[in-house]
Amino acid sequence: GYHRVLEENRKLYNQVQDLKGSIRVYCRVRPFFPGQSNDMSTVASIEDGTITVNIPSKNGKGRRSFNFNKVFGPSATQAEVFLDMQPLIRSVLDGYNVCIFAYGQTGSGKTHTMTGPKEITEKSQGVNYRALGDLFFIADQRKDTFHYDVSVQMIEIYNEQVRDLLVTDGTNKRLEIRSSSQKGLSVPDASLVPVSSTIDVIELMNLGQRNRAVGATALNDRSSRSHSCLTVHVQGRDLTSGATLRGCMHLVDLAGSERVDKSEATGDRLKEAQHINKSLSALGDVIASLAQKNSHVPYRNSKLTQLLQDSLGGQAKTLMFVHISPETDAVGETISTLKFAERVATVELGAARVNKDSTDVKELNDQIASLKAALARKE
Ligand code: ADP
Ligand code: MG
Repeated sequence: GYHRVLEENRKLYNQVQDLKGSIRVYCRVRPFFPGQSNDMSTVASIEDGTITVNIPSKNGKGRRSFNFNKVFGPSATQAEVFLDMQPLIRSVLDGYNVCIFAYGQTGSGKTHTMTGPKEITEKSQGVNYRALGDLFFIADQRKDTFHYDVSVQMIEIYNEQVRDLLVTDGTNKRLEIRSSSQKGLSVPDASLVPVSSTIDVIELMNLGQRNRAVGATALNDRSSRSHSCLTVHVQGRDLTSGATLRGCMHLVDLAGSERVDKSEATGDRLKEAQHINKSLSALGDVIASLAQKNSHVPYRNSKLTQLLQDSLGGQAKTLMFVHISPETDAVGETISTLKFAERVATVELGAARVNKDSTDVKELNDQIASLKAALARKE
């Protein structure tokens, strides 16, 4: 009866909504470290999707609120943070491109969200492990109708150079980002390793972490100055029709977004600062021009924006986790991070597109039109 129509209506509506949308932004606040005092917090309140921060000023206290799709407070668990991401993972297996990236100043919890703490347990696993776990789980549920091949790449962008993190022989070749009509943007020369279980993935991620640590010294925590990207390529064959789908998921742990004081940096440190600033400010420029719907978007200005080109403006589903530290002395970075995130949230993506052998934009537009028509009829 009535309820069923309502339910169907809602389903159709969700399908349409699913195909279009803005970049989703989730904000996460890191807890204080043990021993730190809580009344030093920058965060005044968290309510649904709104976070309000205290802004210190000469004449008393100022406040500013920011709205996001979700805000996770300091007590949110890894499981809670991942909770509603299953539809995104399902999308990869349906042939969409998905990008999940972590933004924030060094020490705000990016790696914690994406990978986990130093000693990773099942409970403390980050998004990367959970996403791959779900991917294999859903692929297995579909095994009677689809055959999936999954392979991963892991790269690092450091000083505007792309490096393969999955090498086993210590080579350190500079890689190129190439664009092809078939696969979109990719790094064809980076190791592409087939995986069939989460255990395979854990081993590869450990290898990547070890390779990433090469070159890091106590003073030079490279991980905070390079962008790392785990890319999962999925190819699915429909066992009845023989059609193939290709989905891809970028899981990106960005370099720290803090502004490095160039007057203090010298030598390698200065070079790093300039390169990171270049990549992250290029990301800012891309976001700004997408937000303003400019016809020219300057993707080519950095390696990072080249790599993410298909995920930022195009037919992908994109989620940004923006991280903030609660300490009052970080308030400057916190505000600029939240302002950046606010701008990201206004970027509208085009209709997400399935990478299917026979699918083209027209087909998808027709599909949307017929869904909309169906919706209109039911209203
Ligand atoms: P980033 O990658 O942004 O530099 P990290 O993820 O390394 O920051 O986090 C800095 C420190 O804070 C680490 O010791 C990390 O384990 C801890 N941490 C970050 N976020 C959380 C969290 N949500 N819960 C508990 N500890 C966290
Ligand atoms: Mg980190």
